[in-house]
Amino acid sequence: MADALLHPDDTLAATGAATAARSVIVKLEGIRKSFNVGEPNETEVLHGIDLSLAMGDFCAVMGPSGSGKSTLLNIVGLLDRPTSGRLWIAGQETTSLDESALTRLRGHAIGFVFQYHHLITAFTALENVMLPMLGARGFPSAQITRRAALLLDLVGLTPWRDHPAGRLSGGQQQRVAIARALAMGPNLLLADEPTGNLDTQSADAVFSLLRHACSEQGTTILFVTHNPALAARCDHVVRVVDGRLLA
Ligand code: ADP
Repeated sequence: MADALLHPDDTLAATGAATAARSVIVKLEGIRKSFNVGEPNETEVLHGIDLSLAMGDFCAVMGPSGSGKSTLLNIVGLLDRPTSGRLWIAGQETTSLDESALTRLRGHAIGFVFQYHHLITAFTALENVMLPMLGARGFPSAQITRRAALLLDLVGLTPWRDHPAGRLSGGQQQRVAIARALAMGPNLLLADEPTGNLDTQSADAVFSLLRHACSEQGTTILFVTHNPALAARCDHVVRVVDGRLLA
């Protein structure tokens, strides 16, 4: 199964397998973020974050509401830019990249799972997982279907692959979202409270699945959670308090 789930881009997969045994996938150096820059209400919410994650690291991010976790995740996910500092994703320094280069890097290197799954509820589970791959050029449809089916198998949803996503349980929908996030074979998966909306048992199952699916693919994970029991099962825990990182 692991072989069949290698990165859809064979070149990247080969490079990754050969060189990235413990290569650094995420590196932040002195990252600061201010909102409303130049306005009277300018506020700095991240005050110089340093963080380094290697391939396959599973890192929990905890911290009180308003401490800067989502801001940090948005910056690492290349959805927002830091005000200063440097950020490397999969070996690429990102702060000097233009918007189209950031979009390309985000598309092939980063997967996202959110508290609310953002699936297309009228589409089947399989179709939802296929979606991110349809935009990638030179990817024949049979391969897309095969890969989506393998990913759904990895998250234990083969019997539900042709069911509309809207008819699945919350835990099953989150599994589809994980399979979809892994579709492009990302180096990094950013999960913002993916279990926050689930009952304890489903949260536990989704967490275990995330851990298993990512270790199959060697994916690095940054996992925001308020759940200390789940954080304790991660390789590292960092705390964001008032815009600063405590290990
Ligand atoms: P957390 O995810 O830990 O709850 P956030 O990263 O959402 O925290 O927010 C950190 C701080 O940044 C909060 O004080 C919030 O009000 C502020 N903030 C977040 N986004 C913006 C924005 N777009 N404009 C202004 N302030 C913001």
